[in-house]
Amino acid sequence: MVKLKHIYKKVTKALREGFFNINYKLFKYIPAEIHRANGLRILVYHGICETEPYKFNSRFITAKQFEEHLVLIKKLYNLVSLKDLKNNNLSNEKLNILITFDDGLKNNFTHAFPLLKKHSIPAVFFVTGLANTSLPYMFNDITDIAPLLINNDVEINDEYFFSEKIFLNHRFLNKEGVSLAERYHDASYVTRESIVRELIKVIPPAKLDENKIYFELMNEEEMEEISEYPDYEIGSHGLYHTDLSTLSDIDINNELENSVNYFAAVLDRRIEAIAFPFGSYNQKVITACENHELTLLFGTEKKFRVDSKNKIYERFTVNPFVSAINQMYYISKNNYE
Ligand SMILES: [Zn+2]
Repeated sequence: MVKLKHIYKKVTKALREGFFNINYKLFKYIPAEIHRANGLRILVYHGICETEPYKFNSRFITAKQFEEHLVLIKKLYNLVSLKDLKNNNLSNEKLNILITFDDGLKNNFTHAFPLLKKHSIPAVFFVTGLANTSLPYMFNDITDIAPLLINNDVEINDEYFFSEKIFLNHRFLNKEGVSLAERYHDASYVTRESIVRELIKVIPPAKLDENKIYFELMNEEEMEEISEYPDYEIGSHGLYHTDLSTLSDIDINNELENSVNYFAAVLDRRIEAIAFPFGSYNQKVITACENHELTLLFGTEKKFRVDSKNKIYERFTVNPFVSAINQMYYISKNNYE
């Protein structure tokens, strides 16, 4: 019975998406739910690429898809900046949209930023401090790309991981079926950095170069340029993209202090916003943010909500698998059902 219900739901969803697509294409029809929506929706984007958005993971959309989003967002909603959010400068009639980017990939600067400027759409970029290290790559990006670019199994700290290549799910798995990313999720930055170093070494350089749009990070000049525009801001995404909720008090404080100081040096200003890596936080993390005058706190979905008087802004993650009009529909509804 449960299974039937599940299938029925999937079928009606696919039919509805098809109906919206055709009607939008033919008649520029906008579903009523979109017009009715109000409140605030903070969107999360990660990467913008030119082709093959699903090549390594589901965190990318193409520049074409992104511009389709921007055109519709501008037409249908009220766009706000981080300053508008801070000053509660929001519309009562329309749904307010703030666009955010996590992880600080270079393509945010090369592909997203020009389009955002072209359409005069504000945004916030949450960036780590990895650009300032000798190996400026994110552990999670490299563990996503490596299984597809390395033909052999890998040995990491005396443990074998074999690559599983299923569409959209390329992973290195150990013999218990635990992925490399999961296995070292709670590990220290030093450990994760050494794994990145190992993986990078075995990927053929030409393949690495061909795919750099999927993992190359923004440099400091690019961060500076973004933050020169009043509508665009840089926020913290932790220092090393560590899951802050797994750290001790001292380590949380170090991560935040170093991140705040890093941006003070690079951008010559104090940042006020942080998006928690993995959307993950706890009361200790919130208290540490207060101590470092990080006042605008961003999570992801509701799942990590803790019982707290502090306001954590929930965000809505965009999805590469739906068309622009359907993405607007799901943004309006605040879920993918
Ligand atoms: Zn992230």
